[in-house]
Amino acid sequence: MQVSQRISGLTGGGSDGWDVFYRARDMIARGEAVTELTIGEHDIRTDPSILAAMNGAAVGGHTGYASVPGVAALRDAVATRLTERTGVATTRDNIVITPGGQAALFAAHMAVCDEGDAALYCDPYYATYPGTIRGVGAVPRAVITRPEAAFQPTFTDIAKHARGARSILVNTPNNPTGVVYDRATVEAIARACCEYELWCISDEVYDTQVWEGTHISPRTMDGMVERTLVVGSMSKSHAMTGSRVGWVAGPAEVVAHLVNLATHTTYGVPGYIQDAALFALNEGPELEARVGAPFERRRGLARGLLEAQNVVKLVPSGGAMYLMLDCRATGLSGEDFANQLLDTHRIAVMPGESFGQAAAGHIRVAMTVEDGAFEAALATILTFAQELAA
Ligand code: PMP
Repeated sequence: MQVSQRISGLTGGGSDGWDVFYRARDMIARGEAVTELTIGEHDIRTDPSILAAMNGAAVGGHTGYASVPGVAALRDAVATRLTERTGVATTRDNIVITPGGQAALFAAHMAVCDEGDAALYCDPYYATYPGTIRGVGAVPRAVITRPEAAFQPTFTDIAKHARGARSILVNTPNNPTGVVYDRATVEAIARACCEYELWCISDEVYDTQVWEGTHISPRTMDGMVERTLVVGSMSKSHAMTGSRVGWVAGPAEVVAHLVNLATHTTYGVPGYIQDAALFALNEGPELEARVGAPFERRRGLARGLLEAQNVVKLVPSGGAMYLMLDCRATGLSGEDFANQLLDTHRIAVMPGESFGQAAAGHIRVAMTVEDGAFEAALATILTFAQELAA
């Protein structure tokens, strides 16, 4: 029996870009010591106070079918947080709770794209973007950004692909680059959305992890609140990756449809998880700062090392848990660089090519091991690059 073309074609065929990652995992399974700088996951676990709230809620009986749109208090808390952080008035009716940001990305595209519609996304991109777009039956169309522009899309970059498209997916602070879009970029996105009648799906899952610059949501721009769906998550801000809790924020009419979609797909998020998320949000920015602090600290360590050499260049980044390093001066592709680094030094990083064509010749370094190991690994990467370039 044949499965659907939609599901068999989801990843677009070919390599999924995770070869280095899988090789590193195999080496670790064989007992080799590998420094893992591949995946975007904190080296701390969910705070015990959040787990206590989760346990309390479960033991207290919040284990039945939960409210499908999300429990009212959590929707209120997310709405208040968005209002406070962006100045855009947001209420419960603008929020649907989803099982993580990934489900929110899928739901948002489902809400605005019909079968065969072109949906834009910026390259380099977070690994699941094209597959998510294909998953709703739409056709992914890449907006290629340039390293000279710190991978920030310009109006012209977007306009080249915008005619006839339905939506554009943007992500700031960005994975894989760590770049925080500046005001000019966000204005360009808004202008393109208004001129070409595009929905904006704005992935803001790293909004609390900004070390330089300011997070500006496209939803705050003129004419954008009615055409923007913001994707949020507790995964990165509160080290709750395994809890699967996030949201879509958007116009109330769209949210009503998304609640309908949730009824027919996920049937909501477990009540005790929602209660834990509510507890975590009520802890305020202090907890978020604590979760983000290791990345800010390691970014500082990295900058010191990078400034002392001139072979590897840091893409000017201001947020998230990643550094994008330009290794083109070594003459190697990002893929060859990452593979050789793994073989010779047992350090695993992601090739830029794993995130599309725009970041060829780059590597993404996740700042997700403890400071000493991180600094040592980065020093080795830089020496390795210098040897290659010599
Ligand atoms: N968007 C981006 C840019 C991400 O990096 C991730 C996770 N790595 C997600 C969305 C999905 O996160 P989650 O489903 O855990 O909320």
